Amino acid sequence: MSALLHNLPLTKLKGVGQALEEKLQRLGIQDMQGLLFHLPLRYEDHTQISPLGSLRVSSTAVVEGEVVANQVIVGRRRSLLVRIRDATGLLSLRFFHFSATMKKQLEVGCWLRCYGEARPGATGLEMYHPEFKVLSQELATPALEQGLTPVYPITEGFQQQRLRQLVQQALGYLASHPPEELLPLEIQQTQVFPRLVDALHYLHQPPANADLALLESGLHPAQRRLALEELLAQQLGMLILRQQSRSQAACPLLPYQVANDISLEEKFLASLPFKPTKAQERVTAEIFYDLQLPHPMLRLVQGDVGSGKTLVAAMACLRAITAGYQAALMAPTELLADQHFQNLSNWLEPLSVKVGWLTGRMKGKAREAVLAKLASGETHLLIGTHALFQDEVVFQRLALVVIDEQHRFGVHQRLALRNKGVQGQFLPHQLVMTATPIPRTLAMSAYADLDISVIDELPPGRQPVTTLVLPDTRRAEVVARVRHACLEGRQAYWVCTLIEESEALECQAAEVTAEELRVALPELNVGLVHGRLKAAEKAAVMEAFKQGEYQLLVATTVIEVGVDVPNASLMIIDNAERLGLAQLHQLRGRVGRGSTASFCVLVYHPPLSAHGRERLQVMRETNDGFVVAQKDLEIRGPGEMLGTRQTGEIELRIADLKRDTDLLIGLKPVAQRLLEDLPDQAQRLLVRWRGNQVCFAQV
Ligand code: ADP
Ligand code: MG
Repeated sequence: MSALLHNLPLTKLKGVGQALEEKLQRLGIQDMQGLLFHLPLRYEDHTQISPLGSLRVSSTAVVEGEVVANQVIVGRRRSLLVRIRDATGLLSLRFFHFSATMKKQLEVGCWLRCYGEARPGATGLEMYHPEFKVLSQELATPALEQGLTPVYPITEGFQQQRLRQLVQQALGYLASHPPEELLPLEIQQTQVFPRLVDALHYLHQPPANADLALLESGLHPAQRRLALEELLAQQLGMLILRQQSRSQAACPLLPYQVANDISLEEKFLASLPFKPTKAQERVTAEIFYDLQLPHPMLRLVQGDVGSGKTLVAAMACLRAITAGYQAALMAPTELLADQHFQNLSNWLEPLSVKVGWLTGRMKGKAREAVLAKLASGETHLLIGTHALFQDEVVFQRLALVVIDEQHRFGVHQRLALRNKGVQGQFLPHQLVMTATPIPRTLAMSAYADLDISVIDELPPGRQPVTTLVLPDTRRAEVVARVRHACLEGRQAYWVCTLIEESEALECQAAEVTAEELRVALPELNVGLVHGRLKAAEKAAVMEAFKQGEYQLLVATTVIEVGVDVPNASLMIIDNAERLGLAQLHQLRGRVGRGSTASFCVLVYHPPLSAHGRERLQVMRETNDGFVVAQKDLEIRGPGEMLGTRQTGEIELRIADLKRDTDLLIGLKPVAQRLLEDLPDQAQRLLVRWRGNQVCFAQV
């Protein structure tokens, strides 16, 4: 085995002693293989010198010239300004960080070779902090690079040059110590890729004629070869995490079986004014199947806005409660938690189910009372925000957690729920519900540790929402439309948005808008809800709106998720161009819930950016959340789409979920087979891509 790359220590490289080895380890590089799988972020072209006169804004180039000026500028920010000249033109180099030695080194009359990006500056084109070398008459002019120059991800205190040299040396070992081919045969046989050795050579040392644009797009076959391997490793990582969760114990939740008696679930369904859709029935059955097993359910329910996920969640909770356990439902916002509380209390209290609620803002006696009832087991179902998972919240016998989420709840957080489970030993079953759909490929990757159920049907009688897009110059028409709708007995939302991430400003804007609308529409009762109101105030306004006391509700995006008032059939969204697609779709989902035709008016402030126009266009064209999600992925990319709470599980080095979607298709079963049939190979693949980061959750 000694002929393998991953067995070669870094100290085999010239110049690498213990200190440098430790530095490399901080970059996650453990051995020769790790070094060669530390792939360039991008490339620079140092193969030729560009005449100064040929530079344009944003050109990145190697240039040479004679220093003709060297002076310290004292302005808003002190800087060293050096001007160079060649036969074709002039260029300024600007340094905000410089020493006296450096100023001396760049004296007038010397020749420089620089590399950097030309940008418009106070003196014409300027390069800020270019790499530079002083050329001297005594020494030979250094040769230009033969091929493209790789730029690696590095940490502070490490130099590109140093890493490049080490990689060059390491490449020399490839012939005698080839990297192990770890792609499963089924992939090797069906897809044509360059050999691994060739791919590594190419990416670390692209030839001078390499297609820089192709490399930058990430679509070079050598990159795709490695991206595929990385995605496979990622899938393996998720599968292993999932296996770990599954290997935990959970309380089996069996169906109620008492002769001549009907279950809570049946009573509940009989009490509803509607019948579940086929899709709701199917997904509920999938959940029930998982719940009766002695290991935890980990299931994601995807469904469009309004597809009735709450009903499915309620059924799961009832199964847990019937079996003698407690359930918890976590919502992303207080408003939504409150609404779930209202809905579920209305549904379940008549069946003698005790529903409690808890948020972070709840303090003192009220909080103590909630916690006491929970610990004694009196509360069957606890609803709330993240506060549900604080340490002091102790359940008597929690067996199911429903997470109604906006963003991701990390795998590790999910595993950590164990200590809330029965006797701190049984992991609660977990049901995750997405607020808006996620495209299939992204879900497969980001949620590879979950099983996925899809509610692919809306309750009957839903009217598609007609979406209009109007500039704010036509606001008077919009106001007239609101008046007309409300006087006909319908209700409307007016949503205010702001660019700034300031809740205070957003609330202020909503207050101003509400005042304006009260003046413009004196015949209507106008309510106002925003994030700065106390929970009870918010709830009271929402309740009044639900009861029809307000015809028009002015709101900030706090009403985004889940709010359900079926009589509201008109929504105005101010400055809609500022919102992302997921948010717009989620907001629009607040209307179209009743049986009347609904409208959503997206009011924008011209001019529209290209992306803004594209988003509003998508909204006008489709009501289908899955289509919206796919477009959103195309426009924004996966990182942003999953929200800011990236949990590291999908931090990728070379692959890109958006670009490499095609590679991802069908990869999960391949990963599953590899893990089952060749666990050692799977492990080596994981180590190759994760290095020492393969710290499986310590549970
Ligand atoms: P979401 O999937 O967006 O969370 P909800 O669970 O809030 O959707 O359901 C939206 C609305 O549809 C609620 O008013 C709910 O009572 C109603 N609903 C749910 N299932 C059905 C059904 N099968 N038939 C009719 N209405 C339903
Ligand atoms: Mg919902």
